[in-house]
Amino acid sequence: MRGIRMETLNKPNEKLRYAIMGGTFDPIHFGHLAAAETVRQTLNCQKVIFIPLGNPPHKKNRILSDAIHRYTMTVLATNSNPDFEVSNIEVNRDGYTYTLNTIIELKKYYGNDVELLFITGADALLEIETWYKVEELLKLCSFVAVTRPGYDKLMLEQKLLYLQSKYNSELHIIDVPGLNISSTDIRERIKNGASIRYLVPEAVEQYILKHQLFKE
Ligand code: NAP
Repeated sequence: MRGIRMETLNKPNEKLRYAIMGGTFDPIHFGHLAAAETVRQTLNCQKVIFIPLGNPPHKKNRILSDAIHRYTMTVLATNSNPDFEVSNIEVNRDGYTYTLNTIIELKKYYGNDVELLFITGADALLEIETWYKVEELLKLCSFVAVTRPGYDKLMLEQKLLYLQSKYNSELHIIDVPGLNISSTDIRERIKNGASIRYLVPEAVEQYILKHQLFKE
């Protein structure tokens, strides 16, 4: 049955399940890593594939770090977890990157025996009806909204119920204890000369320092 699931239990899973962790990752932080690991365990996924976004149509008003920096920081951050992988499928794509194209490409690559779940932040998911060909997208894969501590879930739950009935889609909400970290806050700290130690993996911190990222 498709629908909203408030996940609490680990259930044995027969089909292979891969989670796709889509995001800007500018920069990636421990909140993203904790979210990916929580979803992997809770929903019995065999692996999580991190996909830093390439040239997104919805980010026209903000200058992002170069894709190569966001991709490399994601590789450095996930390196120690054997269940995490990073894909350059979006950063290598010319033109705008849409999640639908990414999912179609992954489905072709992995075949029908693998179920795909797309993980993203609750705020990003609230906007999903503005995404490219949302109806097609929601038919192809399930979605997982991860929430920060203290997040007011009422609106999110209502939105997911509405999406479920409108598109007959499968949607999950998962609370992540360590997600009270944000890329925006990290960028602000760097601009203000404050420490980001223990908010991002050490290798990511070193990379940011070496390449002087987020100084302006
Ligand atoms: P965003 O607007 O930058 O982020 C919204 C919120 O969600 C932020 O608080 C962000 O926290 C959090 N967030 C984003 N990705 C997350 C993740 N994987 N796990 C946990 N929290 C996350 O969202 P975005 O990064 O641009 O987009 C998220 C994904 O949706 C991307 O893969 C993007 O390609 C996809 N998307 C697709 C379309 C389309 O196909 N038309 C349109 C919009 C988004 P942080 O700032 O701390 O990360």
